[in-house]
Amino acid sequence: MTMYEIRTLGDPVLRERCREVTQFDRKLRRLTESMIEVMDAAEGVGLAASQIGILKRLFVWRHPTSNKSSVFVNPVIVESSQEQQSGAEGCLSVPGFSVEVPRAARVVVEACDLEGRPLRFEAIDLLARIMQHEIDHLDGTLIVDRTSAEERRRVLREHRAAREAEEHMAR
Ligand code: ZN
Repeated sequence: MTMYEIRTLGDPVLRERCREVTQFDRKLRRLTESMIEVMDAAEGVGLAASQIGILKRLFVWRHPTSNKSSVFVNPVIVESSQEQQSGAEGCLSVPGFSVEVPRAARVVVEACDLEGRPLRFEAIDLLARIMQHEIDHLDGTLIVDRTSAEERRRVLREHRAAREAEEHMAR
């Protein structure tokens, strides 16, 4: 099984818009199995395909309380509450940072499962946050785009400094 690497801030692939999935085949199933492995190894609660460099509209996530994993293919937010909630949010592609991100408190997502069957999922609070975060990835949007200008500057500066230090060490 191919082991994928999680792409991080600065990698242009994270800024691409992903394309609709049209083939619900064994290849798709294998991809999602790999994605769940990568997500679990990194101890994340969600992972979008673009985070491993695959520009397809799908994400995997693990329910924080039931611990059950799910795959949402071609997900779309069809309803979102006016009410917003601000909360600290991290991202496997922005490792080591947590920033305040306002999100709709409740969303309804329509997607397909691995067999291409339509599903509808209503999420509140943390689950609503996960849905919005992962669907953002499919449009090339990251938490740094959703936080305050000040937080964004801090993350970009510290992330760049950490990368430069790493490159220096590698030399
Ligand atoms: Zn993320």
